[in-house]
Amino acid sequence: FPKTKEEVLKYVKENNVYFIEIWFTDILGYLKSFTITAHELEKAFEEGLGFDGSSVRGFTRIEESDMIAFPEPETFTILPWRPKDKKVARMFATILEPNGKPFEGDPRNVLRRMLAKAKELGFTYYVGPELEYFYLKAPSSNPEVLDWGGYFDLIPRDEAIDLRHQTVSILEEMGIEVELTHHEVAPSQHEIDFRYAEALTMADIVMTARLAVKEVAYLNGVYATFMPKPLFGQNGSGMHVHMSLFKNGKNAFFDPNDKYHLSDTAKHFIAGLLKHAKEITLITNQWVNSYKRLVPGYEAPVYISWAMRNRSDLIRVPMYKPGKEEATRIEYRAPDPACNPYLAFAVILAAGLEGIEKKYPLPEPIEENVYHMTEEERRKRGIESLPGSLIEAIEITEKSELVRKALGDHVFTNFIENKKIEWDNYRKQVTTYELETYLPVL
Ligand code: GLN
Ligand code: MG
Ligand code: MG
Ligand code: MG
Repeated sequence: FPKTKEEVLKYVKENNVYFIEIWFTDILGYLKSFTITAHELEKAFEEGLGFDGSSVRGFTRIEESDMIAFPEPETFTILPWRPKDKKVARMFATILEPNGKPFEGDPRNVLRRMLAKAKELGFTYYVGPELEYFYLKAPSSNPEVLDWGGYFDLIPRDEAIDLRHQTVSILEEMGIEVELTHHEVAPSQHEIDFRYAEALTMADIVMTARLAVKEVAYLNGVYATFMPKPLFGQNGSGMHVHMSLFKNGKNAFFDPNDKYHLSDTAKHFIAGLLKHAKEITLITNQWVNSYKRLVPGYEAPVYISWAMRNRSDLIRVPMYKPGKEEATRIEYRAPDPACNPYLAFAVILAAGLEGIEKKYPLPEPIEENVYHMTEEERRKRGIESLPGSLIEAIEITEKSELVRKALGDHVFTNFIENKKIEWDNYRKQVTTYELETYLPVL
């Protein structure tokens, strides 16, 4: 695909592109879009596109709602699921205030600022997420799965395998590299893994992939969901994030002489993540439902520890290709696929960089299963837990200078305010669980 304004304009003219969707993201990670016609594009590149931001969640108060969206030519791509004769393209936009300043409430700007900070220290931040999700017959309060398969299952007449393959080929048509896709552990649960990319590009990819997964499901008469825990008693959906920092074209996490093949930079980064894990969880796991996933017994992290091999830990150092520079990375397993990827990558990076800047020492890895330890044992070894509910997460994050700095005051305040409302709405509910548990006995 074209990369510069001139190339995009030329491509649009020569390839029957009629519409261009301008995409951006609100603070909770919902994709927002408006469409312009192809003949408006040149002006859009020059002057930007004015729009009213007052009704966009987490944007601005009514009296200062005028915003300008500048489409980013290097994000240009065709949407393959739209008509082929009158093509529809999309570009992500950067949101500016009328005075030309980057708008603080734009999650893309938040991540960009954090990446610039990493650059000052000489680092490029690469991430590779594993996107898990479910196919359901419909978004009903009694969800019905499409299949009863499990991990890596190849099921005869599996509808989902075609859905997955269609989705992956659409993503690749859009220039997004997929490494792997497979059936996950839970019934009707699936996974798509991307080839690592710079964090801003990857956040755009996550936004695009979530839409593509849903579009393909919709075109096939089913429903796809990134809800973290849609089925009681089954694994939830996570978005494990693999990551590394590069410096001068070299993997700064790699040290061939270390017993773990990890550099001091990697160790401080892990230590930073461990230390600040509780504070950033509200951002990586932002819904009431996110905390139904972070419970023991379902391959999701609960305790704050790191390990080489053990998959129950919050941070794992994958050892598929030990000693290979390019493959050296760490995996952060808390995030779920319903997060705002821009904000999630920003706070994860903030925590890691804090560890590097302050040279936090790395605690010993925990190779035993932390879930089999008694609470007493965990306490003795200093293993803490992630927040257990949305309100616990809110209360921790509210006090976090690290998160406030990473998100900026605008997003930080809006986010917390929004989450408090969500919690208040939730805590007033009388659930089926309570009725079934208490009514017969009280
Ligand atoms: N679904 C699990 C989670 O919630 C992960 C399962 C896996 O990838 N091994 O994180
Ligand atoms: Mg995986
Ligand atoms: Mg998985
Ligand atoms: Mg994983």
